[in-house]
Amino acid sequence: MIVAITGGKGGTGKSTLSANLFFYFMENYSTALVDCDVETPNLEYLVSEDLKFAKEVFIEIPDIREGISYNYNNVCKEGALLKINDKLIFIEELCSGCKACGIKTNIKFKKKSIGKIYEKKFDGSYLIVGKSNIGITKTSKIVDETKKYALSKNCEINIIDTAAGIHCNVVRALINSDKVLVVTEPTPFGISDAKRIIKIIEKLKIPYKIVLNRYGINNLNVEYDFKIPYDKRIVETYCKGEGFLKYSDLKKDIEEIANWIIWG
Ligand code: SF4
Repeated sequence: MIVAITGGKGGTGKSTLSANLFFYFMENYSTALVDCDVETPNLEYLVSEDLKFAKEVFIEIPDIREGISYNYNNVCKEGALLKINDKLIFIEELCSGCKACGIKTNIKFKKKSIGKIYEKKFDGSYLIVGKSNIGITKTSKIVDETKKYALSKNCEINIIDTAAGIHCNVVRALINSDKVLVVTEPTPFGISDAKRIIKIIEKLKIPYKIVLNRYGINNLNVEYDFKIPYDKRIVETYCKGEGFLKYSDLKKDIEEIANWIIWG
């Protein structure tokens, strides 16, 4: 089972929900909690900072050297490879490593590290975190590789925490999920961004439910399937980097969501 936790905007409580579902499921199932917010991962601060290096993520970029003459096919959509006054110029920061410039040319490629995957094992369950290197802007391969690495653990439940927003890395994190939880909050921004991400989830044809976080913070009329209340105890445990399952009434809310994930 792969369940993705997403939300149209940042700060809605995705990571809090992901972490608490992880604590809940790992009591009875082998579970992987996967941080696919590779540019700003934060689940380690809620679950465990004791991560170990697992794998490096590379792309292949053109190996362009001074003085060598290259065939050039002019296909680079990123604008990373340009011919100016018969000289081939390569702007490494713009290169996504797609290798299209290698088709029918004599251009050779070399490996470039763009990120790392870290992990922490808990009795058959795992926290897996993808992190991009500083200055890397083309990060979708790190999302793909982090997911692939997590799924290779063959856990019964995989919780994929996506980045905030509506962009390529979020869509890549959602793809192949069996179910999605859209976390929102009762604010105009939260609702409008949730509607936008739901349109994409519907196009991907993945069953989804809406979790209204900070329920009760105001009286906005919002449609939702599950709720997590606005509760001082959640804020307190969040500040300490802990889950909130020790409070039975809050655990009940997580249980309802977990039942939908397992039983539909
Ligand atoms: S690998 Fe792709 S992005 Fe990089 S220079 Fe070649 S065509 Fe452009």
